[in-house]
Amino acid sequence: MKITHLDLNTHPEFAGHQSVTEFECDQTGLHAIIAVHNTNLGPSLGGCRFYPYPTRDDAITDVLRLSKGMTYKSALAGLALGGGKAVIIGDPKKIRTPEMMQTFGTAIESLGGQYITAEDVGSTEHDMIEISKTTSYVAGLPADGQNDHVSGNPSPITALGTFYGIKAAIKHQLKRDNLMGLHIAIQGMGAVGRALADHLLNASCTLSIADMNAEILEQYKNNFEKRINIVATDKILLTECDVLAPCAMGAILNEQTIPNLNTKIIAGAANNQLKTEHDDARLHAHGILYAPDYAINSGGITSVGYEYFARSNRNPYTYALTHDNMLTHVKKIENTMLTIFETAAQKNIPTGLAADKIAEAKFKNTK
Ligand code: NAD
Repeated sequence: MKITHLDLNTHPEFAGHQSVTEFECDQTGLHAIIAVHNTNLGPSLGGCRFYPYPTRDDAITDVLRLSKGMTYKSALAGLALGGGKAVIIGDPKKIRTPEMMQTFGTAIESLGGQYITAEDVGSTEHDMIEISKTTSYVAGLPADGQNDHVSGNPSPITALGTFYGIKAAIKHQLKRDNLMGLHIAIQGMGAVGRALADHLLNASCTLSIADMNAEILEQYKNNFEKRINIVATDKILLTECDVLAPCAMGAILNEQTIPNLNTKIIAGAANNQLKTEHDDARLHAHGILYAPDYAINSGGITSVGYEYFARSNRNPYTYALTHDNMLTHVKKIENTMLTIFETAAQKNIPTGLAADKIAEAKFKNTK
């Protein structure tokens, strides 16, 4: 396998990253790039995106952006983890083989624990099993019966953390301690959206839900007919509601959509909700409270991080890595969100900027 450590001085986009390494293997067809953004708080953990990028430059841009995002997410979540990410270039349906994934494991191993991988778009639990044959620096594996909290699927924990974040947003913006009777609009009823909807219905909310997949919606609605409205996918962002919870795709908050929103709060699990950094300020100017996505959706990385630490006997904490302690950790999202909202209000700055500043204070200058 050819391993190239990319020169961090050659490209302005590399500034701030610790390492960017390219791996090419003729035998298996693997072409991967691993970016380690920052390891001040611990080894970098971030998923492996397996995607047919049109060009190598597109792949590099994506891995740099995503790895940096992981540093901020883990720092804000109070995890002993840094930020990193991997991309494999190509269509997983066409080129994936067990040998390729094992070679990717060897690539991860060569970084000596600086980077730990997990699932992301295009990669699966089965891929993690193949990767684990050649490296121990992997998470998102199926339960092994030895660690009580281990789960390959972080979605329910992401949803739980998002629910805590919504509670914080309600407390801050609406001065309420419970969600009873509030109207929440959920865009995307996938793994996270459905689990979030369960929590919200249990808290006596009314829901408007939208998804590209009509079957999912009908099935879900049949369970709780009275408190659920099904809304068309092109109307959900316009729905008049107390909270809009984006749980589908990115870039939905932008110059076109923000002036038409009909909500007081945006708090959902989708990654990269803001199309550009200006949209943070735009929401602030419209008086809409935005729960920064990487802060509110950190339940998943917390679950995966605990799984990794427990499985690899690398506990960085002073307490046991039990399921209950992981859930206690996820509950802290509520306080973290309140701190972000209060900081933003005190300084009269957008909430995304406030979150960035709090995260940076945690991971910068720790060494
Ligand atoms: P998923 O693929 O299970 O669900 C996404 C759902 O959104 C699907 O049902 C899809 O049909 C629907 N959808 C797509 N486009 C839509 C549109 N225009 N309007 C309405 N619905 C649409 O994904 P997921 O695991 O539930 O993740 C949801 C979001 O949360 C993603 O942005 C993901 O990156 C983010 N996230 C997930 C986790 C996790 O643990 N799964 C962790 C952090 C962040």
